[in-house]
Parts: sequence; structure tokens; C-alpha cells
Amino acid sequence: MDSYVPPYDATAVTRLIDAGAVIIGKTNMDEFAMGSSNETSYYGPVKNPFDHTLTPGGSSGGSAAAVAQKIVPIALGSETGGSVRQPAAFCGLFGLKPSYGSVSRYGLVAHASSTDQISPLASNVRDLALVYKTACGRDPNDSTSVAFDHPDYPGLLETNGKLRIGIQKECFAEGLDSEIDKVVRDAIKALEHDGHTCVDISLPSTEYAIACYYIITPAEASANLARFDGVRYGLRVGSDESLDDMYSKTRSVGFGREVKRRIMLGTYALSSGYYDAYYLKASKVRELIRREYEDAFSKVDLIVSPTTPTAAFRLGEKIDDPLAMYLSDIYTIPASLTGCPAISVPFSRMSDGRPVGVQFTASYFDELSLFQIAHILEHWI
Ligand code: GLN
Repeated sequence: MDSYVPPYDATAVTRLIDAGAVIIGKTNMDEFAMGSSNETSYYGPVKNPFDHTLTPGGSSGGSAAAVAQKIVPIALGSETGGSVRQPAAFCGLFGLKPSYGSVSRYGLVAHASSTDQISPLASNVRDLALVYKTACGRDPNDSTSVAFDHPDYPGLLETNGKLRIGIQKECFAEGLDSEIDKVVRDAIKALEHDGHTCVDISLPSTEYAIACYYIITPAEASANLARFDGVRYGLRVGSDESLDDMYSKTRSVGFGREVKRRIMLGTYALSSGYYDAYYLKASKVRELIRREYEDAFSKVDLIVSPTTPTAAFRLGEKIDDPLAMYLSDIYTIPASLTGCPAISVPFSRMSDGRPVGVQFTASYFDELSLFQIAHILEHWI
């Protein structure tokens, strides 16, 4: 709501302010962080600074556009399934999805509590590492935040160590734009030239990641959004009638189409008689995906893939086709389901100038390797 002033700051924001950061405003995003194009925003879509006919990505498209437009050097967004990495790729920025539990979610409006993470965007790796280092760490206000001895990321970007990088072969298949395919392979060549070893790996269950995500996250969202009932805060419609009428009118008017779609998907998946078939099954698939990543990280240090199957698409292009929209997060969702950290690195461009992102995923709490690999590629950009 336009008039809503939060009564307290998120822990990540407090930590940045305490370190001397100046918060200049809040940016536009898809409603409740549900969307991949900014078009489901209550305020209307943000435009991509490179070309105003294109989406900046979503859901944290406003944060990405503000950094790409050089309004601010750094911004925070939130990730549930790619909402910072995908806008980073579409706007030519670095975007990090931290390990689940590394940045406190206190003060973050919950979308799907088991994958949500506050995530930074920046135009260079040092700034990205600095924001992350400032914001991360255990917070007693978020029981899922982890006490971990974070290294001095910005001071450790230079490394002479050679990494083993797995090329996730499932990502280089149908649906991937051929120019993006080439950009990612060029990045791989640059890394090999630098002495790193790149080997093919397979994560077969990632094929089910989107299906799994669109059961688990709407289920969590439908529970999280139950609090927006017109009683405690926010919009209230029809308060003179019965409580049920007031709830249903408030929620019918207050939520946008995409949010309602997720609530319906989620409540259906959790409803009696369907729980085992959908939510429980999806949770098992999620565990399979997580184990495949765990196994991969016993053989390689990092996994490389494209961040997105296409570069920034046109505003209006996918808004009437939810499935096509959901597929734009096909490569970012697996890391969100597993809790692993992942980064999008802006490497090269399409022949028409649109930015392209290369994604690296690391094992749990190995953000340092992500910053280091991104810093190596930064020299080649
Ligand atoms: N686009 C994905 C979704 O709509 C991811 C959103 C996000 O990461 N917040 O669920």
C-alpha cells in the first residue's frame, strides 16, 4: 500500500545502515515477488534501462534497473527462485543468491519461507561481496539464519587456486537460445585458458525442478499470505458485513491475478487428499535434486550453466502465458530448491546488445568461490 510505513527495518537493512550505507528508497517489484518480468507489479512494470521495450526481469526488476541505470551502486532484492539472478542477467549486473540461512529474513515479506533469501545486486564483484559480507550472519530474529564464520570476501577476491568446474549438460539443450549457449561456452573457454578444469556433469533430476518449485512455493505462499486478511494491517474491504465476507472481499480486491493463481495452486496442493500426491511428492523430488548437487560437489567445486534460457524479453511477450513465464527461471530454480548459493555474472552480450548472464552454483556456504570465479571473469568482460 502506498501509505504503508514499516514499523521496523529488516536486519539486512539495519546492518547496511550501521556500516554507513545510505538507503535512498524502495524499488518496484512483482507483487509478493511472484513474477519474472515486473509486469505483475501493483505499480506497473519497470523498463529495462538498455531498451525500454524490454523487461528488466523479475521479481526484483526495480532493484536491477536502479543499479543498471547507475541511480545507486548497489541494491538488495529477494530471491525465491531466481528473482535477483534473472534480473541481473537481463540488466548486465552481478547478482548473488546467497546460501539459504546466510542472510536473515527478518523484515522480508515472506513468499516461500524455505527458499526466500535477501540477495544483493551490483555492477562489480567487489561491491557485491561487500554488501553480502555486511548483510550476512546469524540473527536471533530469524531461527533459520546460520552462525557461520564468514571470511573477508572483498579482501579475498584474488586467488591463484585452480577450480574444477562442472558443466551442467542438461542446461545446454532445447529451449536455450543459441547465442546464450555460445556466450556460456566462451566463458568456459576463458576459464580453461586461466587454468581451471571444466568437465561435463549431469544433474538429471533438475528436469523436475520447475514442476517441484510450482508446488512447494505456492503451498508455502498460500500459508504465508493467509495473514493478509484485512484484520491486522493493510487493505480492508466490506468491514460492515460478516467476517467471511470481509475476508473474501479484501483478498479478492487486494491480491493481483498472479498472486491469486499461486494461492489457489498452493491451497489445492495442500488440501486434504492431495497433500501426498503433490506436496509430499514434490518434497521428495526436491531432496533428490539436493542429493544430486551434493554428489556433484564431491567431484567439482562449482557448476556452470546459463542464468536464463533467453536474454531480456519484450514487455507483454509472456504475461498471458504463465508457463512460458515460469520457464524463464528454469536454470535458477534448482539452486533455490537446494539452498546452494549461486551467482549470475554478466559476460558478453547478444548480437543485438542485450546482456547475457552466466551462472555459477557452489556448495552450501561456499560464496567465496562464487566471488572468486566472478572476479576472474570480470577481467575478461
Ligand atoms: N519468478 C519466480 C516466481 O515467480 C521467482 C520469484 C522470486 O525469486 N521471487 O516464483
